[in-house]
Amino acid sequence: MQAAAAATANTNIDPAVREFLGRRMKMLIDGKWVDSVSGKTFQTIDPSTEESLAEIPDGNAEDVDRAVRAARRAFESGPWASMSASERGRAIWKLADLIEQHAEEFAQLETLDNGKPLSVARAADIPLVVDHFRYYAGWATKVEGETIPVSAPGMLAYTLREPVGVVGQIIPWNFPLLMLAWKLGAALACGNTVVLKPAEQTPLSALRFGELLDDAGIPPGVVNIVTGFGETAGAPIVDHPGIDKIAFTGSTEVGKSIMSAASKTLKRVSLELGGKSPNIVFADADLDEAAAGAAAAIYFNHGQCCCAGSRLFIEQKAYDKVMPKLIEYSEKISLGPGMDPATQMGPLVSSEQFTRVTGFLTAGQKEGATVATGGGRPSRFDKGYFVAPTVFTDVRPDMKVVREEIFGPVVCAIPFKDPEDVVRAGNETTYGLAAAVWTRDIGKAHRAARLLKAGTVWINCYNQFDAAAPFGGYKQSGFGREMGKAALDLYTQIKTVWVNTGA
Ligand code: ADP
Repeated sequence: MQAAAAATANTNIDPAVREFLGRRMKMLIDGKWVDSVSGKTFQTIDPSTEESLAEIPDGNAEDVDRAVRAARRAFESGPWASMSASERGRAIWKLADLIEQHAEEFAQLETLDNGKPLSVARAADIPLVVDHFRYYAGWATKVEGETIPVSAPGMLAYTLREPVGVVGQIIPWNFPLLMLAWKLGAALACGNTVVLKPAEQTPLSALRFGELLDDAGIPPGVVNIVTGFGETAGAPIVDHPGIDKIAFTGSTEVGKSIMSAASKTLKRVSLELGGKSPNIVFADADLDEAAAGAAAAIYFNHGQCCCAGSRLFIEQKAYDKVMPKLIEYSEKISLGPGMDPATQMGPLVSSEQFTRVTGFLTAGQKEGATVATGGGRPSRFDKGYFVAPTVFTDVRPDMKVVREEIFGPVVCAIPFKDPEDVVRAGNETTYGLAAAVWTRDIGKAHRAARLLKAGTVWINCYNQFDAAAPFGGYKQSGFGREMGKAALDLYTQIKTVWVNTGA
């Protein structure tokens, strides 16, 4: 009932999405759709209406245990364990085809659950998901070992790259299906089995995705989807002795607790965490492009990106040219429900995020920063977690808004005089996920790229992603690289085999 009511509050909902939302949601364990053992549920909310979209099973340690046992069985024996690499690759490719066939449904589910504009979910999230699975479908047949030129006479040594085993994957809410794809693509290509927990704010697309696995030819138990909260469903995944590796994307704070908890069973861990990325505009850049790029760097996905360009360094000589353009972009962005075709920016994902981000807006002003534009929820909205694109000026490096990850559409503009010193200032953060420079001087651009302590550096662009290009953090932004060939390292372990050839 609630789901139907929420759905009618929006326009143009695909009939398949309406039908999906009307169903009783279950978790996927061992190829079967099941209720949580406790029978408890929680609601997932449309952040533009604050109304419930669906009741979701509230998984706990018992559900996780069932999922881990299923994943272990599927890993050790049965069709997945005996599937050839080429069959595995074909199944992953089929999964990509099926997602593509249902692209509109997935885009709408992302918009309803997360709040992002439908145009963005259609143009970015879902095509990237499809590409990602296709890319890793290709890798399934290319996970190769090596022959090692050992010195002992008569000995042949070679390596096998074997799957790690049962992988626990815990994902965030900012790109729900894309984060699922980043985690699952490489894990499946390498032959692992998985217990995946979507974020409690955005479980819908993962549950719809689970319905495609069987048609793709992925056997029961290979991908198990447990819904629930971090402490009650996420932590048991990290603690479970039957899990061999944890892959986590989320906040640095939770990443630290996961690393510590995983040490008890000495699980492998890969972490993709927060950021406070410096975006550096030199005076010799194409300033029109740089201003547009600076707006996109912070406002894409409402600033709910771990790599958001949230510290904007502008060379003093160009400050008065870039700032008016940035403010104009900020004020022109059309804020509204994601399902409205005119919307360029939707609401934040949840009331917690709304409180958190607006708390930063208050803290920034208390510390003496100036709000050049934006600053809170525009008065025309009486519900929905909307926050206007916000630019802070007059900031100091010690301010909370400059140091801490806000994870909202809030940028700190920082003028700089000394082009030699700005990279040092950019690196002055505990994070190291991404950075960007805007300049026409190719030497300066490459020098900065070498000096910036970040896992990704963009030159005269921002937020470029490709399934083939590794992504991950330096410093407290985590470790391990997702995407590209590098992700195979996360999901394989190396076995060295020695053979006495008798020679
Ligand atoms: P955010 O603060 O952006 O919501 P979190 O890091 O809290 O991000 O959450 C990211 C994911 O981690 C979610 O799926 C969440 O449920 C999960 N999570 C949160 N706390 C824990 C925890 N203690 N152990 C395991 N998973 C957790």
